[in-house]
Amino acid sequence: MIPRPFEYHAPTSLPDALLLMNRYGDEAKLLAGGHSLLPMMKLRFAAPGHLIDLGKIGELKGIEQVGNEVRIGAMTTENELIWSPLLAQKLPLLVEGAGLISDPQVRYRGTIGGDISHADPANDHPALMLALGAAFVLRSASGERVVAADGFFLGLYATQMQPGEVLTQIRIPVPPAGCGWCYAKLKRKTGDFATAATAVLLRMKAGAVEEARIALTNAGPTPLRARAAEKHLQGKALSDAAIAEAARLAMSICEPTEDQRGDVQYKTAMAGEMTQRALRTAASRAK
Ligand SMILES: Cc1cc2nc3c(=O)[nH]c(=O)nc-3n(C[C@H](O)[C@H](O)[C@H](O)COP(=O)(O)OP(=O)(O)OC[C@H]3O[C@@H](n4cnc5c(N)ncnc54)[C@H](O)[C@@H]3O)c2cc1C
Repeated sequence: MIPRPFEYHAPTSLPDALLLMNRYGDEAKLLAGGHSLLPMMKLRFAAPGHLIDLGKIGELKGIEQVGNEVRIGAMTTENELIWSPLLAQKLPLLVEGAGLISDPQVRYRGTIGGDISHADPANDHPALMLALGAAFVLRSASGERVVAADGFFLGLYATQMQPGEVLTQIRIPVPPAGCGWCYAKLKRKTGDFATAATAVLLRMKAGAVEEARIALTNAGPTPLRARAAEKHLQGKALSDAAIAEAARLAMSICEPTEDQRGDVQYKTAMAGEMTQRALRTAASRAK
């Protein structure tokens, strides 16, 4: 399919991008890596009259540590996350997750900000952001606000982001030293989205779980935080029984949609399987 004709804009600063967004309103769409937007335009699910490309805005790129927080520009690509020595050291969960997204071609162009903003429940960053306790910086012509990832995702392709806002930065607290982590993802083949996936960040103390953060990908209309499973594990050793019960509790909140990757029962079972796998791997990495 061929997209509807559109006008292309390539601002070189954020204020210029915000001006264009104000000028064209509902007719405008932001373009990041284009890997989700362009297919939607070709299918005419999206038909913007104006595309505002964020690719030439330098301030939307980069990874830095400020105090106890890692700050990532929204236009940072998946490969830039994977290649970052800072992230390898401070946020290995994010590096592991980014490395499991699609294939190298997609990872060269796809951005962390686009993956989050698109809010497809099959996208991997949303659940990773919940597990990592991230916050998002949203900028508009009228100012800036910072919104927690927890509660940001409202439904299929729906977030708290308002018209006229741009996601500029992702802020992630550095987990305490010794945390275990894992992103366990089941996909049918390289380049596919998750049939089911689970992100785990785990803090252990004296052989027991001090804090577990567990988030599920593609198990419902939004990424899901498995709070009952987290609560169940708190203060316990990670025995087979504790892990199995956590997986059961995680499965109890799943509402996946049936598609070519499987029916509801299979996908729910795989969410439980990925939760068990992620917990065991995270425990083996915790110090
Ligand atoms: C073959 C294939 C396989 C894939 N597999 C996976 C996978 O396994 N896991 C996964 O997570 N993803 C997967 N993807 C999706 C890919 O990661 C996309 O890159 C991502 O969903 C969107 O990022 P983007 O930078 O391409 O954004 P775009 O497609 O350019 O934009 C997506 C949406 O977000 C909006 N947007 C973009 N940036 C901003 C911003 N800074 N502020 C506000 N709104 C913004 C756009 O207006 C648009 O509505 C796959 C894509 C393809 C083509």
